[in-house]
Amino acid sequence: MQYLFTPPAVVSVPVIGKTEQFPVHRIYCVGRNYEEHAKEMGFTGREPPFFFLKPADALVFAPSGQTVNMPYPSLTKNFHHEIELVVAIGKGGKNISAANAMQHIYGYAVGLDMTRRDLQNEMKKQGRPWCIGKGFDHSAPMGPITPVAQAGDVENAEIYVQVNGQDRQRSHVSKLIWNIAETIEHLSAAWELQPGDLIFTGTPEGVAAVVTGDTLVGAVAGLGEIKVHVS
Ligand code: MN
Repeated sequence: MQYLFTPPAVVSVPVIGKTEQFPVHRIYCVGRNYEEHAKEMGFTGREPPFFFLKPADALVFAPSGQTVNMPYPSLTKNFHHEIELVVAIGKGGKNISAANAMQHIYGYAVGLDMTRRDLQNEMKKQGRPWCIGKGFDHSAPMGPITPVAQAGDVENAEIYVQVNGQDRQRSHVSKLIWNIAETIEHLSAAWELQPGDLIFTGTPEGVAAVVTGDTLVGAVAGLGEIKVHVS
């Protein structure tokens, strides 16, 4: 096969304990999946889950024990952190039932769904797509993937992010409105999941802005920490 120009590289993420990388297919994200965060965004109640995507090449890998740089994005004056549990799909499928969903998971990671909140809010107000607020370059920092067998009790793990050493978000994955299995059930009804898909499962309350020079430390217990410097 000859191409007109060099095709983009495959985006991939290291896996704890493996030499092989996890090749990324798509990045799906769940909106408003913790009750206290839904409230802070002006919503109440258990609405059906909804989804948006980020381009795979928005991923910024944050190696364990190192600080990775994330450039402050263009056009925004309100650049928000959303700490999230990331589910890595190892086995694809469509119309996966919640009862069978967990066997489709390869592993888990810590991620940040970085958001240009002012642009997202403006698009919401106008009834337009969120892409500019959510799917921009470098908007998905994440750590290495921990295979399921080594990840521990992720569904009950603590999740948090600190900015410059101060707590911003701290909650538990058990507070997800739609748990991991239910999320996979809903998502796979809308898209056929593929090995290599990542699912950012939603963020708890406490989303707030960062500025150039800030350092974020985010974690899900059992999956390690990621450190991201806004440059
Ligand atoms: Mn999010």
